[in-house]
Amino acid sequence: MADPPQRRALVTEVPGPRSRELMARRRAAVPSGVGATMPVFAAKAGGGVLVDVDGNSFIDLGGGIAVLTVGSSAPRVASAVADQAAAFTHTCFQVTPYEGYVLLAERLNELAPGDVERRSLFVNSGAEAVENAVKVARLATGRQAVVAVEHAFHGRTLLGMALTAKASPYKKGFGPLAPEIYRVPFSYPYRCPVGASYDECGPACAEAAVAIMNSQIGADRIAALVVEPVLGEGGVIIPGAGYLEALAAYCAANGIVFVADEIQAGFARTGKWFSCEHYGLVPDVITTAKGLGGGLPIGGVTGRAELMDAVHPGGLGSTFGGNPVSCAAALAAIEEVEAGDLLAAASHIGEIFSARLKPLVEESRAVGDVRVIGAMAAVELVSDQGSKEPDASAAARVLSACHEEGVIVLKAGTFDNVVRLLPPLVIGEELLVEGLEIFEKAIRAL
Ligand SMILES: *Cc1c(COP(=O)(O)O)cnc(C)c1O
Repeated sequence: MADPPQRRALVTEVPGPRSRELMARRRAAVPSGVGATMPVFAAKAGGGVLVDVDGNSFIDLGGGIAVLTVGSSAPRVASAVADQAAAFTHTCFQVTPYEGYVLLAERLNELAPGDVERRSLFVNSGAEAVENAVKVARLATGRQAVVAVEHAFHGRTLLGMALTAKASPYKKGFGPLAPEIYRVPFSYPYRCPVGASYDECGPACAEAAVAIMNSQIGADRIAALVVEPVLGEGGVIIPGAGYLEALAAYCAANGIVFVADEIQAGFARTGKWFSCEHYGLVPDVITTAKGLGGGLPIGGVTGRAELMDAVHPGGLGSTFGGNPVSCAAALAAIEEVEAGDLLAAASHIGEIFSARLKPLVEESRAVGDVRVIGAMAAVELVSDQGSKEPDASAAARVLSACHEEGVIVLKAGTFDNVVRLLPPLVIGEELLVEGLEIFEKAIRAL
C-alpha cells in the first residue's frame, strides 16, 4: 500500500485510450446528471498524486474535494480499515454498539473548541449531518425557521438543497424545496453585498443579516443559523473580521442554535481542527464529513450535550451511520493528522499559496481576488479587474489547461468563475510547487 511515485508524468494523451473506453461505458451505464470534472479514470492514488488507468500520473490539487486531508492511501487508515473489515463490517450501532463509534465521539467532543460538554452522532454523509443538526436544533428550541447565508452549500438532499444558495445545478427543477428556510447576506469582502469597503464588509453584512432576522423572520422563530465559517463551494469566501463573531453573539442572545458547517473547511484543512477557531467561535453544533473519514464515508454532528440530548430515543440514527469501518478510518485519520503534524502542514501550504498566488493580482487583469486560508485557496477570475465581471469561461479554460498538463484543480463559486485548490495535506513541497507553476502559467495565458 505504498503511495504511487510522487511525480507528474503524462504517458498518453489525456484522456488516454483506456479512460476513453471507460468513459463510453460510463455514459451508457451512469446518468449524465452525475458530473465529471476530469475525463480520466483512477487506478491508484496517494500522497499528492493520482495515477489513471492509462498510467498518467497527476498532481492532485483537488483532494477529492477536500476529503484527502491525510492522502488517499494513508498507512494508518488502510490498515485500520483492513483490520476492522476483518473483525466485522457492520452491526448497526443502534442494534449492537461497538467501541469505535464511542471512541470517535469522544475524540471529536475533545477536539471541538470551547470548554463545553458535547455529544457526537455519526451518519453517512455531509448532507445527512446538516439534516441532523437541523433536526436537533428544531426539537431543542421548539422553533422551525432555519437561516442560511448567500453562496452557501450544504448538500444535495431535500433540506441540503433548500439550504444551499446556488440554483443551478443544485436546485434547478428539483422543487418544491423544504419550507422555513431564510437567507441572509454573507460577508464577501471582494463583492460586499451591502456595498461596504473591504475592511467594513464584516460588520456591515452582520448588521444587514441581523436586520433581516429581526424584521423578516423574528428572532424568536429561528431554530438555527447554519453557516460555513469559510464558504467552500461558494468559492472559498473568507468572511471579513467581525461578521461571524457578531452573528454568533446574536444567536447566543436570542436562543438560536449556531451551527458551524465544517464539512469542507474543518478537519485540519485551514491549519486548525475547525475553521471557526480562526474567529474564536465556540459553535453550539459542528457538522463534519469530507476529511473526517480519511476517504471513507462518514458524517458527524458534534453539539452541546443539552441540545443533542433533547432528542427522544430513536429520533436520531441511521442503518449505516457511524459504520465501524468508517469509524476505524476516522480514528486513524485523526492519528495521521496528529502524528504527521498536518495542522502545521496545512498552514505551511497556505504560506506557499499566499507567496505564489497573491502576486497574480498584480500580474493579470483577469485575476480579481486571491483567497487563502491554510490549504484552501481560490483565485477568482473576472473579465476585467475594474468591472469585476465574473468570467466563467476563463475558469473553464484554466481548469482544462491544468488537466491537460497533469494537474487536478477544481472549479467553485456561485458564478462558476473561481478556481479552487484543496490539496492533500501530505503532498510534497516540490510537487505542490510544480503543480502551482502549471496553474500560474494557465492563469497568465488568459
Ligand atoms: C460537501 C459539503 C456538504 C455535503 O456533503 P456530502 O457528503 O456531499 O453530502 C455539506 N456542507 C459543506 C460545507 C460541504 O462542503
